[in-house]
Amino acid sequence: MEKITSLAKRRGFVYQSSEIYGGQNGAWDYGPLGVELKNRIAGAWWKEMTRLHDNIVGLDAAILMHPRTWEASGHVENFTDPLVDCKKCKSRFRADQIPQENLAAKKCPDCGGELTDTRKFNLMFKTHIGPAEDTASIIYLRPETAQGIYVNYKNIIQSNRMKIPFGIAQIGKAFRNEIVTKNFIFRTCEFEQMEMQYFVKPGTDEEWFSEWRKQRWAYYEKLGIKMDHLRWHQHGPDELAHYAKDAYDIEYLFPMGWRELEGVHNRTDYDLGRHTQFSGKDLQYIDQDNNNERYIPYIIETSAGLTRNLLMILCDAYDEEQVADKGNDDDWRTVLRFHPDLAPVTVAVLPLMKKDGLAELAQDIRAELKEDYATDYDQAGAIGRRYRRQDEAGTPFCVTVDYQSKEDGTVTLRYRDSMEQVRVPKTELSTRIRSEIKAYKRIK
Ligand code: ATP
Repeated sequence: MEKITSLAKRRGFVYQSSEIYGGQNGAWDYGPLGVELKNRIAGAWWKEMTRLHDNIVGLDAAILMHPRTWEASGHVENFTDPLVDCKKCKSRFRADQIPQENLAAKKCPDCGGELTDTRKFNLMFKTHIGPAEDTASIIYLRPETAQGIYVNYKNIIQSNRMKIPFGIAQIGKAFRNEIVTKNFIFRTCEFEQMEMQYFVKPGTDEEWFSEWRKQRWAYYEKLGIKMDHLRWHQHGPDELAHYAKDAYDIEYLFPMGWRELEGVHNRTDYDLGRHTQFSGKDLQYIDQDNNNERYIPYIIETSAGLTRNLLMILCDAYDEEQVADKGNDDDWRTVLRFHPDLAPVTVAVLPLMKKDGLAELAQDIRAELKEDYATDYDQAGAIGRRYRRQDEAGTPFCVTVDYQSKEDGTVTLRYRDSMEQVRVPKTELSTRIRSEIKAYKRIK
């Protein structure tokens, strides 16, 4: 993880928030390559969940919601972590994340000092809206995006004439006052989620639950993730949330071990039932194709962290490889093997020399490619070094412009993964890259 954290900073994927002031715990900033990567991951998920499904539509709800929302959802009452402190070294732990022996003996796992009793700590960030700081002005930063979907479910049925089964997808920020934030961007106080809530008829929920498990697994396969680094974890009775009938996590083998990446949950009619109760609005679905049958839909949720996906994708793509030309400084390379659809830069254009019009020709080629791809241009230093820099940023294709390019209009197309180079007419570059991306198969 240290290698990934340092590469992320060095290459402008992720920086510590407010670093010049010593940093802000639990918050991170996404630099030029990081924001591109994050947008691509969000784009891939959005395409998968909305464009590829005729019956799933998008939503972008506000972060600030009516405070009753969080009473109805159960967050005010139940969204707590058990917290213990060490009286001696002042370390703070989640009671469910330290060895049971330590908890029973009230002994700090770090220094052996005495631990406090366990107390419940609500993870929602609470603030005030308006000028008065009284109880009537309390408002929360949303701890999940899902509730914005539930409270809009009737609006969407009406405005878009949706029929069950249908889904609503949303990507957005969520905030949790996490007790322990470590492992880089794995668990942070400000993060982004990609959630899809699928509304189904009660009785068909188990079938849809298994269908969505299948689809979410296939999604990671499509992105070229190492499938032996993914596994399912079914929630046991003691882990199952109060609203859930069944829940599975997709776990990824991060450098610190297997950890949750995404959850697929059968939330039953709990959410819409509670919002009916708290809002006094009738949230039943009326099935006009079935004698106006009325019911509260069951919800199957797929809930993934966008920023956690970004960390997973960085870990999954990271590779160090000994390359053929041993004996010089460049015989090792660090390479990020991103799927080309996710790579922050798709094509880098590199003139072999700055002089003799090669730089100008390379700039012209870049200008044409810009319309179709995220591009970079680099003319500084030896060509081998420039390839290494692009490998480290995960750029799948490099185009090198040399003297022959001036004569016959061909350029070299270099592949990140195999390091193979082929000569291609510059007029065919864009279509060639397009078909390479379509046919992409991870080789390592
Ligand atoms: P955990 O048990 O890790 O705290 P959770 O089970 O509470 O997570 P959910 O509420 O199901 O998580 O959230 C759905 C997804 O949102 C998670 O699978 C994870 O990818 C992401 N997520 C949740 N909390 C955080 C966080 N603090 N930082 C980054 N991502 C998060």
